[in-house]
Amino acid sequence: MQHLFDQQLKVIHGDITRLEVDVIVNAANHSLMGGGGVDGAIHRAAGPKLKQACRELRETDWPDGLPDGEVALTEGFELPARYVIHTVGPVYAKTKDKSHLLASCYRNAMTLAAHKGCESIAFPAISTGVYGYPFEEAAEVVLSVMRDELPRLEMTVTLCFFSESDGRAFLEVARRKGELD
Ligand code: ADP
Repeated sequence: MQHLFDQQLKVIHGDITRLEVDVIVNAANHSLMGGGGVDGAIHRAAGPKLKQACRELRETDWPDGLPDGEVALTEGFELPARYVIHTVGPVYAKTKDKSHLLASCYRNAMTLAAHKGCESIAFPAISTGVYGYPFEEAAEVVLSVMRDELPRLEMTVTLCFFSESDGRAFLEVARRKGELD
């Protein structure tokens, strides 16, 4: 584990579904009905009530699906995390304003978590799997959001990378940007 930004940001590798934090973020899709990657892992670990809660969110708040960059909250059900914030990252090849939308995922999730009184939040590497966002480009977006947002929030943020090499690659970008000694 590595700390950045005066200990407010933690970089780890592992399975986000195992983390004991107030809220984990799901890299969902527009349908909110589950999918592969981290979305599938979160739905499996949370149990079937998560899908039911997502179905209800679709019916009440997001009849046309969740747009890119937006966030929606459910309970965590069988997860150790109390809540899940679902967000939809941009598909790299298909989206014009992608860095803005990727930043919105992170910023909106942190703002919503703060409104719910959360003190800890964990993110996967949104959009860098099947949505094809180049890892280093995404890391730069994440770092600039953290630099802007962390000072105004009393919240610990964990970036949870699935592989050790992704964790290392992120720290390398942070080092290049002068955010690490
Ligand atoms: P997207 O569709 O937003 O690209 P993916 O789920 O395909 O989302 O991938 C996002 C990132 O989540 C990838 O880096 C992938 O390796 C990672 N990932 C997959 N499963 C898990 C998990 N259980 N915990 C943390 N990260 C995960």
